[in-house]
Amino acid sequence: MPTLETLSFDNAFARLPDAFFTRLPPQPLPDPYLVAASPAAAALIGLDAAELARPEFAQVFSGNRLLPGSEPLAAVYSGHQFGVWAGQLGDGRAHLLGEVAGTGTGWEIQLKGAGQTPYSRFADGRAVLRSSIREFLCSEAMAALGIPTTRALSVVGSHAPVRRETMETAAVVARLAPSFIRFGSFEHWAAKGKTTELRQLADYVIERFRPECRDAANPYGALLADVGRRTGELIARWQAVGFMHGVMNTDNMSILGLTLDYGPFGFMDAFDPHHICNHSDDRGRYSYKSQPQIGHWNLYALGSALAPLIGEPEDVQAAIETSYAPAFEGHFMDLMRAKLGLARALPGDEDFIGDTFGMLQQQHPDYTQFFRRLGTLPAKVDETTRTTTDAPLRDLAIDRDGLDAWLALWRARLAAEGRPDAERQAAMMGVNPKYVLRNWIAESAIRAAQGGNFSEVDKVLACLASPFDDQPHNERYAAPPPDWAAGLAVSCSS
Ligand code: AMP
Ligand code: MG
Repeated sequence: MPTLETLSFDNAFARLPDAFFTRLPPQPLPDPYLVAASPAAAALIGLDAAELARPEFAQVFSGNRLLPGSEPLAAVYSGHQFGVWAGQLGDGRAHLLGEVAGTGTGWEIQLKGAGQTPYSRFADGRAVLRSSIREFLCSEAMAALGIPTTRALSVVGSHAPVRRETMETAAVVARLAPSFIRFGSFEHWAAKGKTTELRQLADYVIERFRPECRDAANPYGALLADVGRRTGELIARWQAVGFMHGVMNTDNMSILGLTLDYGPFGFMDAFDPHHICNHSDDRGRYSYKSQPQIGHWNLYALGSALAPLIGEPEDVQAAIETSYAPAFEGHFMDLMRAKLGLARALPGDEDFIGDTFGMLQQQHPDYTQFFRRLGTLPAKVDETTRTTTDAPLRDLAIDRDGLDAWLALWRARLAAEGRPDAERQAAMMGVNPKYVLRNWIAESAIRAAQGGNFSEVDKVLACLASPFDDQPHNERYAAPPPDWAAGLAVSCSS
């Protein structure tokens, strides 16, 4: 098994022409210390769990010491932010160290918060402990939920002060992904009219990650359709689990269809389709309900960037229209059926799932608890004992008669399948998580860590690694927000 010093790097991205990035080392931080590390992420790059405990680990993953074979660089990209063209952005606080061999296509290691780069504009190149813990925990939680995402190997902290709304301290997240290329990486070259670089980047993505596109009649159209399909599936998964990204700008959209750049994200507590998890998003552009149509908008931004390679506008449109909506709708229906305990697709399911969201909107139950508890109910009830049997769900409702009416529809739909309760209930437990990274959970781990106690971060990480298992010692993490967390707001400040 490789150690830190013997990881084998093969830096394909660094072999692209110099126009795509600036080579520069991370800027050291004083006295770095390990806050948390993910053994599951370490395993992806074959790193022995014992390596995480070495003092050198914090030196390496703060950026203070370079691993042999790494070639640090910051990549350039542009993008649309909140629907407006923002021009050049780029890795303003991220250094790509290189790519190590591992399971799958290889893993790039990126340090987020390791100092200024030519793309920092007026910002400090740093990240604070608070936002780093959020990214770390959520990356690993999403992976355990089976949702495509960049991974997080570690958070390393330092006492170095960082100014946000208040003074905070610096931290660095080591992220892993096959690639961090974004929609905005393509928009960058298209906006400059540089078709050569645009093609080089598209060819790089196709060669390394999507070789099957090479054989299509229109390889770049096939690439766009691939991104459309993966993005559709990704956002279906977000909607089904109640995840809100918070800042779906095109520079935060992964060309591989991964959840990328965790900032003011949130998981739905009491269901509200209009919920806006990002306090800085005044108009709710990225609300829960808007995410699917924003995915579509973002694909058109990517499509217009790729247009010079694809050819006719109709081909761009066809690549998006045949991929995104069908993938989103198909996956969303399948995921919702599974959440509801339905094994087969039947006519009328769309209406029933629509009614389900209408009911959730009226009842505002805790979204995660609602489905988890639904999975405990029997398919048949005796009218005399119904209110007791259904109490776990009725207790979450505002209007119990309304909920009862929906439960009757649900039971009628279950009866159309006649699946045994035990089988259906077990299947529901396997798809409806008990534990998600609620804001209050992240916040309590952050407060403990800011006070020097990192054990809460480890406990949350371990709990969320098995989100579908009942964990009696972690019952508290299944709870909706406590009173102290009612007013918690997360913003773009990170
Ligand atoms: P985000 O909204 O975090 O996706 O960031 C948008 C852009 O701002 C990206 O180019 C980031 O690299 C850059 N950025 C955000 N925060 C900082 C920071 N503290 N220092 C330098 N660049 C930053
Ligand atoms: Mg970003």
